[in-house]
Parts: sequence; structure tokens; C-alpha cells
Amino acid sequence: MTHTLMPLPFPEDALESYISAETIRYHYGKHHQGYVNNVNRLKEGTPFEDKSIEEIIMGADGALYNNASQVYNHDFYFKGMSGSETEPSALLQEWIERDFGSMEDFKKTFIDAAAALFGSGWVWLCIEANESLTITPRSNADNPLNDGLYPLMVCDVWEHAYYIDYRNARADYLEKWWKLINWDFVSENLGNARYIEFPCDDRSGECEFKEQ
Ligand code: MN
Repeated sequence: MTHTLMPLPFPEDALESYISAETIRYHYGKHHQGYVNNVNRLKEGTPFEDKSIEEIIMGADGALYNNASQVYNHDFYFKGMSGSETEPSALLQEWIERDFGSMEDFKKTFIDAAAALFGSGWVWLCIEANESLTITPRSNADNPLNDGLYPLMVCDVWEHAYYIDYRNARADYLEKWWKLINWDFVSENLGNARYIEFPCDDRSGECEFKEQ
């Protein structure tokens, strides 16, 4: 099976007010495509030849793991941005307020974690096994899948995500990236997590996570 680059969910210039078409052209067209190409090359002749990106992440190590993880992370990142205004679902809003106090406190904690991450990496919002929301910074290609966490949202803090537009000013990029979050995607992930991570027999939508 040959992995293919996911379609960009918006036109190259859709985020232009904060992230330029030039950045997207390099980030999606060169970096993301490069990771996809590397996975296809590196998995040849290995037990991972016919495996999904998630299966490779869970089982491989070294360069194959790093490149598969970068494919997964970039899919998540690009799906997680939008040029249109979106809003968190009522459920997501409720969980954020429950675990971080308010949307403003959540934003501050998330952005502080992203600003403080040394070197290259990713900052994730995840659901923990105990069903609370947690902010998890990860270095280089890592993502939280191997830690039993269910990811909802991610910010790419590799310099290639912002250097063309913001040079070394990561904090400025983070403030602008926040305005581009596709809350529909994050809310949808939370909705899916209720069934994928914590199976429930009743698909009527009335199932709740078990009480702590
Ligand atoms: Mn990137």
C-alpha cells in the first residue's frame, strides 16, 4: 500500500491573514509531502509494508517511526485549521471550563506550553484515560498515541511552520495560529472519542463517559 498526501482542506491562501500561501506551499507541499515519501520508501521490505500510519506509529522505531508520526501529526495540524470562523461545541466548551477554568485560561496554558517547548515539536490537547483533558507537549516527531492518550487538537511548533511569516517570533505565530483553530474539527474529535476510546453500546448519542 502506498500512502498518499492528504488533500489540503482549504485553498493555499485561505489562512493568508495569519499564515501565508508561501508557508503553506512549503509546509504542506514540501515538508508534509516529504514525510509521506519517506514513509513509502522506508517501509519497503519491512513488516510495515501494508500497515496504516497509526499501526506504523504503534510498532516501528527510528526513521520509519519518525516519518510516520510526522505524517499523522501534519494531517492533524492541517485539518485543525480553518480560514472561516468556527466555535467549540457545547460539550467541548464544558470540558474545557471543567478542566482549565475558562477558555482564556485554557488558551494561556496551551500557548505557554507551546512557547516553552525547547527546540522542535508539537503541543497536543488530549483526553486522558481518566477522561480529563490534558495539554501534552511532545518533542520532534512524537505524538501521544503510544501513551494511551486520545488527541483532539495540535499545534506545530517546528520553525518551518512559522519562519517565513514570523521569523524567530514563535509567540506571535502562536497568537495568530489560535485564531485559525478549526473548532469544528476539535469538537468532532471529542464527539468521536466518546465511542472510539470508550466504547458504548448505545449509539443514540445519550451515552456519557463513566463518572469518576
Ligand atoms: Mn510541520
